[in-house]
Amino acid sequence: MHYFLRAIRDAIKSWPLLLAAFLCSAGVASLWGANIAALFPIIEVTLNGESLQDWNTRRIDQARERIAAADREEESLRGRLASGTGDAKAAQHALDTLTLSRRADEAVLSASQQLGPWLDRFLPTDPFTTVLWVVGFVVASTFLKHVLLLTSTMLVAWVAMNISRDIRLKVFDKALAVDRQQFMRHGSAGFMAQVTGTSEMLANGLTAVFGGAVTEPLKIMACLAGAFCISWQLTLACLTLAPAVGFMMVWLNRRIRRVSKNILTRSLGFHHVLLEAFNNVLTVQAYTMEDFERERFRSCTRDMLKIGMRHGFYFALANPITEVLGIGMVATSIAVGAWLVINQQTEIFGITMTERPMTVPGIMVFFGMLIGASDPVRKLSGVITGVNVGVVGAQALYPLLDTPSTLHEPADPRPLPRPHREIRFEHVSFSYDGIDTVLDDVSVSIGFGERVAIVGPNGGGKSTLVNLVCRFYDPTKGRVTIDGVPLTEVALRDLRGRIAMVTQQTELFNESILYNIRYGRWDATEEEIIEAARKAHAHEFIADFPEGYRTMVGPNGFRLSGGQRQRIALARAFLRDAEILVLDEATSQIDAESERLIHEALASHVSNRTVIMITHRASTLELADSILHVDHGKVTKRPARQAAAA
Ligand code: ADP
Repeated sequence: MHYFLRAIRDAIKSWPLLLAAFLCSAGVASLWGANIAALFPIIEVTLNGESLQDWNTRRIDQARERIAAADREEESLRGRLASGTGDAKAAQHALDTLTLSRRADEAVLSASQQLGPWLDRFLPTDPFTTVLWVVGFVVASTFLKHVLLLTSTMLVAWVAMNISRDIRLKVFDKALAVDRQQFMRHGSAGFMAQVTGTSEMLANGLTAVFGGAVTEPLKIMACLAGAFCISWQLTLACLTLAPAVGFMMVWLNRRIRRVSKNILTRSLGFHHVLLEAFNNVLTVQAYTMEDFERERFRSCTRDMLKIGMRHGFYFALANPITEVLGIGMVATSIAVGAWLVINQQTEIFGITMTERPMTVPGIMVFFGMLIGASDPVRKLSGVITGVNVGVVGAQALYPLLDTPSTLHEPADPRPLPRPHREIRFEHVSFSYDGIDTVLDDVSVSIGFGERVAIVGPNGGGKSTLVNLVCRFYDPTKGRVTIDGVPLTEVALRDLRGRIAMVTQQTELFNESILYNIRYGRWDATEEEIIEAARKAHAHEFIADFPEGYRTMVGPNGFRLSGGQRQRIALARAFLRDAEILVLDEATSQIDAESERLIHEALASHVSNRTVIMITHRASTLELADSILHVDHGKVTKRPARQAAAA
């Protein structure tokens, strides 16, 4: 729950909007009660054919008469008590009842006397015109109520949607900021589910809190307050079912929370299966695994369906449970109230319900008030379920947002000379999982301007070595330094700003070729982009496209061949003009002739740059000054010529 409270605290930062929404809600609630209370004068006036002024005067007269009668009776009772005749206990009881009823009459007298001048001033004296006025009031106040309701709903929706957007932005930022290990733990599917479904759940919860959790109880309170004014005892009697319903709601809350949590877990699995099948669609089709994937997806959706039905059931159950309370209130009030009115009694089972016997219009307004309270009670069930869903959403989102990245940005980053002189591994050991050692006590240095080829068997640790230079991970032991400054003390932005990287799995955006190359340096001119493309021997094939550099490459560049994609990625790296160029099998898919040409371009481009190339190709080795042999975590460095001779 405390995560959801955090979301509420975040929402409260937009307090001016929420305050406005709250005031609108208060207006809605009071108009809700006022509309029902307006029935009273309608009934009173139509039944008696008199104006409100007459009615008020009559009420004053009746109250005065009752007070005078009470005075007389009180005098006689006191006399009886003083003389000691009759049952002293009964006389005392009658005296107490009389005092109560007298107090009520005095209140009515005072209220009616105060109301009198207002009625004279503002309301017509003709009964039918009065009815029209009251009808007009009901229509106008209903209209106003809906304007306020709309405003309040929009304000709350604005706040909730902004919070949900805010959370989405935070999840997105988090996905980009966490270290790779953390990212892989949740995966693209996990982050996607959080950005879409879970944020939505939280937004729904917040809308429920600020929308319904304020308006509906306010409406209930407005109506119950009206009912209390008529008879607090009778109102309390009508609320006898409330504790039982409250207990049921607590039970239901727990169930809904558990089911919502289940839905969330299943939805993560669902996103996972979906993304995997779509991302690997070629493999699925090539290996005719469509049926298998279909079954996997069907099984996920079947699970979702089952759990969704359970969720739907509990959601639907909330309605009847709360409605039992509403109907229970109304039924009790009708039964008890009708008995009191028909028998003109003030007590039931010896408990005083009203000071005076109730009138028909009085009990009608009382019924109206309870019916008015029962509708928001019913709606409150939706609010309660909404809050539960929000609680589950918050419980999934906030821990993710709180996950710290293991890559700490230094509080006081140290500057690096430009260009650097040396990258050095000092007794570096590394393990991804804390069990298998991928790099074992590596000490090696790469000077500025050096062209280093990294070779070795698959899984030997070549990519890991490069990942440590880019600081995608920190070493488990030892340190990587640039000119003696540990990478952990350099701002990540500064470090990565000096590196251009081309990986084996070329990553392209579903945009134009121009956009994809420019990704290397956003302020590059078109001439610079074309120049970089020429160096990467990409210009020729780009120029052949009808739309040239404006050609859209499709999702992940699927409209291009593997070799074309690699050349665009190379052009991007050339354009970046960084002092460290990292090529992880960057030309593996490029034909031999183009590769030779690229190497020529590379030879001229890489002068005055440090180049780290992971390769299996002998042709690439020709470019290298030295060779790092990485095998089972051990790294040895040799000059290229010596390596070639060996
Ligand atoms: P190479 O590039 O030489 O083929 P890598 O550096 O990619 O090898 O991998 C070295 C070892 O680390 C391999 O055994 C691989 O299974 C493991 N490994 C690579 N990446 C991860 C990762 N993200 N989590 C866990 N283990 C990994």
